[in-house]
Amino acid sequence: MINIKTDKEIELMKAAGHLNYLTHQYLKENIKPGVTTSYLDDLAYNFITSKGGTPSFKNYQGFPGSICTSINDVVVHGIPSKQVLKEGDIIAIDIGVLYKGYHSDSAWTYPVGKIDKEKEHLLEETKNALYKGLSKIKNGVKLGEVSRAIENHAKENGLSVVHELVGHGVGKNLHEKPDIPNYGYPDVELKTGMTLAIEPMLNLGTRNIYLLEDDWTIVTRDGKPSAHFEHTIVVTDEGYEILTGE
Ligand code: MG
Ligand code: MG
Repeated sequence: MINIKTDKEIELMKAAGHLNYLTHQYLKENIKPGVTTSYLDDLAYNFITSKGGTPSFKNYQGFPGSICTSINDVVVHGIPSKQVLKEGDIIAIDIGVLYKGYHSDSAWTYPVGKIDKEKEHLLEETKNALYKGLSKIKNGVKLGEVSRAIENHAKENGLSVVHELVGHGVGKNLHEKPDIPNYGYPDVELKTGMTLAIEPMLNLGTRNIYLLEDDWTIVTRDGKPSAHFEHTIVVTDEGYEILTGE
């Protein structure tokens, strides 16, 4: 069953989403060559907890960080570490915030200093794929319209769609129904009050990925870069509202 949130619950999710957005803005200012991902993780932990929230990912199924930090060919679930950011890297920061009983989930991929044209293209078009998908959302529409819009945008721009990882419903639980693949045509009807995390993960090379021995970090098989953009949204009668934006 897919949860439909009450107006009261949506208000709480907006608060969780706003704190997530503020955390992204704060971290963004601190992404530069020379900083470690564990430094960013500490900043995130301190920021979120100082505002009364809890990092959703910390200890989630044993995940050691407060945020996921995925550099270059890391698709998702990169563990914060002593790795130092270098000029020309890209880093996906994925943040979950639990606030007053509700989760928000949002990822953004940032350039570190100046990046090459291929990475610029990857970032720009993965972000555009997210918004193309979001633009289809409305009460009564099939979820497949969202998935297909993302997949088509990826194809048109020469990027590949990761199949093994998907978006999801979000609310009292970090991951709720439905699964939201970024390809194909899931036969689920969207309804006002559903809260969803839409999150294209697109690769510059092939879509193939594998899991590293740490049991978390997922990387591209061909070593080419990957990008990840995610917003938590609520479905409305007329469209959707982003809960993790400005
Ligand atoms: Mg996420
Ligand atoms: Mg998510």
